[in-house]
Amino acid sequence: MAIDQHGDANLEGVSIRSLPKVSLHDHLDGALRPQTIIELADEAGVEVPEAAADDLADWFEDQSDSGSLVEYLKTFDLTIAVMQTRDGLRRVAKEFVEDLAADGVIYGEVRWAPEQHLGGGLSLDEVVEAVQEGIEEGEDSVEGSGRDIRVGQLITAMRHTDRSLEIAELAVRHRGRGAVGFDIAGPEAGFPPSNLRPAFDYLASAFFPATVHAGEAAGLDSIRSALIDGRALRLGHGVRIAEDLDVVAEKGEEVQVRFGDLARWVRDREIPLELSPSSNLQTGAIAAWGTQLEDHPFDLLYQLGFAVTVNVDNRTMSRTSLTRELKLLADAFEYTLDDLEAFQLNAAAAAFLTIEEREELIELIGEGFSA
Ligand SMILES: [Zn+2]
Repeated sequence: MAIDQHGDANLEGVSIRSLPKVSLHDHLDGALRPQTIIELADEAGVEVPEAAADDLADWFEDQSDSGSLVEYLKTFDLTIAVMQTRDGLRRVAKEFVEDLAADGVIYGEVRWAPEQHLGGGLSLDEVVEAVQEGIEEGEDSVEGSGRDIRVGQLITAMRHTDRSLEIAELAVRHRGRGAVGFDIAGPEAGFPPSNLRPAFDYLASAFFPATVHAGEAAGLDSIRSALIDGRALRLGHGVRIAEDLDVVAEKGEEVQVRFGDLARWVRDREIPLELSPSSNLQTGAIAAWGTQLEDHPFDLLYQLGFAVTVNVDNRTMSRTSLTRELKLLADAFEYTLDDLEAFQLNAAAAAFLTIEEREELIELIGEGFSA
C-alpha cells in the first residue's frame, strides 16, 4: 500500500518510521512544508500557484513527474523565492530538522546553495548563519520532545555560476560552526566538476570533504570527473555508475557481471552512492533501465556490494520521506529489516563526521534495529 510523506509503514511487524535512520542527500529548498510556503509567500509578496496547502502539495508532485531534470528544477523557483530573508531561512531550516526527527532520522545532512538566497540583501555568511540558527532551534525543539537529532550543513555551489571558489571558501569558513561538507548542484550535463577545479583544489588543500552530484543527468564521464577533479568522497546519486556494469549472465539467484575500471573503483573503494529512488525515477536518471522502481539498478548495486545509501533528495517535490523510500524499496525488492539496517549503516559510515561520531551512530542504529 502506498504511503504519503507523513505516513508510517510496517516491515516484519516493525514501524519503519520508528527505526533510527540517517539522511545524507536532502535538499533544504526541496523540503518545505506547503503551508509554510504559503505563509512565507504571503509575507514576501510571492505568487503561489495554489492557495491551499494540499493543492500546492499536488502541484509540486505534478511538476516533478515531468521526467526531465530541467523541468523538475523549476519547482525550486518557488521554494527559493520564499527563502530570501533571515526569518524565512531560519523557519525552513527549523522545520526541516523537526520533520526529519518525526521521520525517525537521528542524523541528517542538509544541502543548499547560499548563493541562491541573497535576494533579500543578506550576505553569504549571513544566510549560512540564519540556516544554522534554524537548525539549532530545530535540534532544541526535537530535544524538548524527548528525541535526539543532529543536522550538519553541506554548503553547495551551483555548477553553472562562477562562484564555486567563493562558496568553497565560505564552507571552510563555517567548519565547526555548522558546515560539515561541500557539494555542487544544478545542471550536470555540460557542467563537469573539472570546470570547478579551483574550488575543489582549494577544498582538498583544506581537507574539507566533498560530495558531488554526478551520475544523475550525465553518465560515466561526469562520475569520473567528480572523483578525479572533485575528489568526491561520495557521489550524489551516482546511479549511472551502473552503466559501467555489463550483466553477462543471470543464473537463478546468481548474476555474472563484468565491471569497468570506474565501477570497480567505486565499489572496491566503497565510495558511497547517495541513491534517491523516487527522485531518480522522476528525473529520468534511470531511464536507461526502465520507468518503474523495480527497474532501478539499486538492487543490482546493492547485491554487488556497492556502498548504497537511501535518500529522499527533495521531500516536497517527490512528496516523500525516508520511511516512504525504504518502504518502496522493500516492496520492490523484497528487502528485510536486515537490508534496511545495512543501508543505514552504510549512511552512518559515510557521514561527514568524526570517526567517533560515526561509531556512535552505528551503535544507535544497531540498538534501534535489534530492539
Ligand atoms: Zn540532489
